[in-house]
Amino acid sequence: MYEMTKNVRLLSPQKTIALIAHDHKKDELLEWVKKHSEVIQQHQLIATGTTGKLIENELGVPVHRVMSGPLGGDQQLGAMIAEGKIDIVIFFWDPMSAQPHDPDIKALLRLVVVWNIPIACDRASADFLMTSPLMSQPYESILPDYDAYLQRKV
Ligand code: PGA
Repeated sequence: MYEMTKNVRLLSPQKTIALIAHDHKKDELLEWVKKHSEVIQQHQLIATGTTGKLIENELGVPVHRVMSGPLGGDQQLGAMIAEGKIDIVIFFWDPMSAQPHDPDIKALLRLVVVWNIPIACDRASADFLMTSPLMSQPYESILPDYDAYLQRKV
């Protein structure tokens, strides 16, 4: 987990990783999870409902599950990002199918950038992320400075 100081989030060597895969991407995510199982198991895992269940079955490790994506899971993960509870996001979203919860997906992707969260939306990026030496080290994540925004005259 982490500590919050003014504009820096300190990430500990053990990260909290959120995982989400759209239906047509679930097999790909499971294959990827198997490939990186050794590293992944050293961290806390959280996932949308169905994705989480599949990962739990695949790895045999506990995965904290929020609701299924279309039922609010993406929004729950977004809220956790705003609260500083998620360190990394692996989001295999499907660029070839329309999703009923498209606004929720967009909102999640926006909050990831608002809070400077490392994210991988495809397998190659996820490979790079998971093999980074920073996965097992503390990391100082420099947050954007929102003070001026918070103190704006309204
Ligand atoms: P699911 O949700 O893991 O419950 O399928 C993912 C999504 O579609 O956002």
